[in-house]
Amino acid sequence: MSRVLITGITGQDGSYLAELLVDQGHEVHGTSLSADEHSIEGVQLHPLDLSQPGIAGLIRSIEPQTVFNLAAISSVYGSWQQPDLTARINGLAAAEMLATIRDLPGTRFVQASSAEMFGMPAQVPQTESTPINPTSPYGAAKAYAHSLVNVYRTAGVWASSVILYNHESPRRPENFVTRKITAAAARISRGLQDTLELGNLDARRDWGWAPDYVDALHRVASADEPGDFIVATGTDHSVEEFVAAAFARAGIPNWRDHVTVSQEFLRSGDAPRQVGDASKIREQRGWSPTVDFDGIVAAMVDNDLAIIDRSAN
Ligand code: GDP
Repeated sequence: MSRVLITGITGQDGSYLAELLVDQGHEVHGTSLSADEHSIEGVQLHPLDLSQPGIAGLIRSIEPQTVFNLAAISSVYGSWQQPDLTARINGLAAAEMLATIRDLPGTRFVQASSAEMFGMPAQVPQTESTPINPTSPYGAAKAYAHSLVNVYRTAGVWASSVILYNHESPRRPENFVTRKITAAAARISRGLQDTLELGNLDARRDWGWAPDYVDALHRVASADEPGDFIVATGTDHSVEEFVAAAFARAGIPNWRDHVTVSQEFLRSGDAPRQVGDASKIREQRGWSPTVDFDGIVAAMVDNDLAIIDRSAN
């Protein structure tokens, strides 16, 4: 049994990771923005705003064996609205954590990095050595934290960076395209909504299953040596393919009757295609994804239909 600290514990990834580690008998601590956020059984919650200094004191008082840094302004779209807050939370907070851990030799650090650091990648699929060249405030802040992990690893700190491709689940909020689509498909199928407005339907993403990505974080944290690891399925689909699959699952015959494209949801620097090569973590840590694209779409649509049907009864 060990003690762990998860920043952003009430988010999609934080909550799945907390459940996994509590089940394994670890002592799990987590930060969340406010004390009112829903509690997770078996977890000690520490309200903390990571846009301000303060995480150093918490790490020193808990002295965890592992810090998982999952707190972030998590959407690329949101980072264009709040670039300075994104820089503080997604970037600077990691500097405070790494500087603190440097004085705690028994503590490991695992950073949730992102495929967005690659910007418009010229190389497909991307690997751990694809050049970092972000095209969004989100990607730039994540690139800074990722670089710092490498800086501190070189300075002797046990620090790993896990480069996560998009990973989805029923816990995704609706500001992400997958949940926006599955929630709308469910409402349209039940006659509660007629149209869905989206942005770039041609963007291709490597969508994985969030609990698989949390399993990857755990495997990286328990490795002998730290390093950088891509976590991806290696298969990409377009937003349009996601829409078609979700509407079919919700029993709507022709999705084109319900979907419109709005300028409002188009983004600057939106990569046309992201797809990752996860060979390193597959070979070194025995990781592999367990749920494919159709399984992800089905789980999310079925969950959204069940929410509506439960509230109607
Ligand atoms: P993120 O890019 O990692 O924040 O994940 P998103 O789920 O927000 O976006 C994934 C892809 O879907 C991007 O290429 C977006 O440009 C595209 N997309 C197309 N329409 C929409 C939309 O209406 N909302 C969002 N969030 N993304 C959209």
